[in-house]
Amino acid sequence: MYFRHVLRTQFVGTRAAQLCPFLRVCRTERSLCTQNDEVKLAQEASKRYGSPGPTIFSKVIDKSIPADVIYEDDKCLAFRDINPQAPVHFLVIPRVPIPGISAIKDDDAQLLGHLLIVAKNVAKQESLTDGYRVVINDGKDGSQSVYHLHVHVLGGRQMSWPPG
Ligand code: AMP
Repeated sequence: MYFRHVLRTQFVGTRAAQLCPFLRVCRTERSLCTQNDEVKLAQEASKRYGSPGPTIFSKVIDKSIPADVIYEDDKCLAFRDINPQAPVHFLVIPRVPIPGISAIKDDDAQLLGHLLIVAKNVAKQESLTDGYRVVINDGKDGSQSVYHLHVHVLGGRQMSWPPG
């Protein structure tokens, strides 16, 4: 499983992966695995967080819709926002479909920390050397539109304060 994950992370989107039958098989197996895993994760999350159900980000995770994924591991994914608000704008999401930051439990500290570490590492990978903004919207007043926890990372321009 880990081997397939590494293969997928390193070869997805490359011409080599499209042409090599072995890698194509790995990609297919990986996406089937992921879909099964996602169903299990969604059921567990629904019990734990009262998850409202799958969102568009569940489809990003199980690869049933395309996304520009720039990082993934066994706990989370980072992908470019479809409607960027800055020259660099990506989202970091947990694989577990937690509805939002307000649904987080005290013992999720490690997962939340991991999301922020990934946000920092991908920001570096994206050459955001002069800084960036990290945002988590929650609920109606926070203008959250997708009820799957996500960390926005925006950079590549000067931000202003206060936010709108
Ligand atoms: P929020 O308003 O904080 O819930 O942010 C949701 C973000 O998800 C918005 O910035 C959207 O542009 C972004 N978004 C929605 N669907 C997709 C998608 N399929 N791929 C990438 N980003 C998306």
